[in-house]
Amino acid sequence: MRVAKTNIVRSPGIATARVLHEARARQLEQVIEQSGESIVVKDMNAVVTVWNREATALYGFTPEEAIGRPLRELHAADLTEAEYARILVRIGAGKPTTSTVERRKKNGDIVRVLNKTTPLVDVQNRLIGEITIARDVTALHRTEEALRAAQAGITTKLKAIREANRKLAHEVAAHRKTETDLRDGHAKLEALVRQLESFQRDDQALVNMAELLQSCTQRDEAYAVVREVAGQLFPGVVGTLHIHRESRDTLEHVATWGREQTPESGFAPDECWALRLGRPHIVNNKGAIRCRHVLGGTASYVCMPVQGEGQVLGLLHLALDINEDHTQRAEGTERRLRALVDRIGPSLANLKLRDSLRVLALHDPLTGLYNRRYLDDALKREVHRVKRSNKPLSLIMIDIDHFKRFNDTFGHDAGDFVLSAVAKIITKNVRPTDIACRYGGEELAVLLPEANLECALGRAELLRIAFREASLKHRDQVLPAPTASFGVSEYPAHGENIEDFIKAADRALYQAKQAGRDQVCAAEVTIKV
Ligand code: GH3
Ligand code: MG
Ligand code: MG
Repeated sequence: MRVAKTNIVRSPGIATARVLHEARARQLEQVIEQSGESIVVKDMNAVVTVWNREATALYGFTPEEAIGRPLRELHAADLTEAEYARILVRIGAGKPTTSTVERRKKNGDIVRVLNKTTPLVDVQNRLIGEITIARDVTALHRTEEALRAAQAGITTKLKAIREANRKLAHEVAAHRKTETDLRDGHAKLEALVRQLESFQRDDQALVNMAELLQSCTQRDEAYAVVREVAGQLFPGVVGTLHIHRESRDTLEHVATWGREQTPESGFAPDECWALRLGRPHIVNNKGAIRCRHVLGGTASYVCMPVQGEGQVLGLLHLALDINEDHTQRAEGTERRLRALVDRIGPSLANLKLRDSLRVLALHDPLTGLYNRRYLDDALKREVHRVKRSNKPLSLIMIDIDHFKRFNDTFGHDAGDFVLSAVAKIITKNVRPTDIACRYGGEELAVLLPEANLECALGRAELLRIAFREASLKHRDQVLPAPTASFGVSEYPAHGENIEDFIKAADRALYQAKQAGRDQVCAAEVTIKV
């Protein structure tokens, strides 16, 4: 280290004190030299007074070159006037500072240094200069710079990767969405095709049903058609068809499908909400308002009124779950249901009309018995059957005794009443296969297939007694029990053709009248000569 001679105090004094002072100065010099840090001391004008070995190593200037020269001529040569002025101001301020600055070495290289400055004072504590300890941080700075650059590079790359990743994720999502959309679209298309196919099948089944229903002549045939088609339209669904009785006080069960056991018997119209409200009643869970006619085990069901010719004819009941969550399916089901009842209604109304016409055409309106025209047809049919099967056939002709008296005594209405009462007694006392009819006026006839003379005589006697024992009351008036005369014949014993067969019964009836009325007479066998 070299120290400027001007800074070395050489005052005269006690020899010992000088020796001591020199020793201390020598020690200080060594400390400065051995500190391992570059130490530069300058006076208030930035003129170097101390320049150690490390300072030489740092800036390239030797102590001889540096001491006595201002920083401006050394490593601060590159500074602007303003920057250099700031150094002078700093020295003048006498305050410690720390800064990192760039300086030019003697060989022209730029060195980055961490400067720590402390004010230098004399024994009177007057500011006389500044001590700078400088450390070369060029390498550290470069490393830091490199690190920072590397970090910036990594950040940029990370950003790029993140961006690429985001784009990829976006693309994957878009791809997935396209795939899902495609799959959905495909599934929807398939569902639509399936639905259209099912509509077509349903329509076909309904068209077939309408044709079949039109060809039905009996209601039972129509019910069988409904049973079949409803089973096709709603596979596996239990269903029933109920039809109003003529009296309209009861709905009669006429068809069941989807299960073996027959359902409950008839029920009153007010037991069904659909009939009460005149519109479909849909029950989707156990909590909904349920119809009284529906069995407890049926969780979900639909009741549809069947209408035709402006009248509710009956009810279609299906143990069906129209689930409201699946609106499309529910719509399809409702469509089929409506299409079904819309076709059943008019067909059943038509059959009902036909039945009514048939009843009108073949029945006597007062007594409800068959009319003479029907008896004529029945006779032809039954005679033909006797010829084929050889089974017997008998006829009872009945004439009410002194019927005129009923009219004369109690009025024509009472006469009518007696006639219909007699008809009821007959209907009640003959077999369902027997054909009871009003032959004309107060004359009645019963045709008894598979009954021989003996059997028919027995039946006539039964009727005779039943007439006598009848208690009749018309408009609060008690009427006397009627009596009647009976003539019985058997085919072909009493006539080989229909005319003779009737005449034989008529003759027997006449005999009964002749014999005093209220009795049964058998026809006589006429022997042809
Ligand atoms: P008989 O014992 O001889 O048969 O005497 P009857 O009075 O029954 O016989 P008749 O042939 O003299 O009279 C039949 C009467 O029946 C005449 C007719 O006015 C009446 N008659 C026929 N059809 C009806 C009807 O639909 N309603 C009512 N109230 N009377 C009828
Ligand atoms: Mg008569
Ligand atoms: Mg009579």
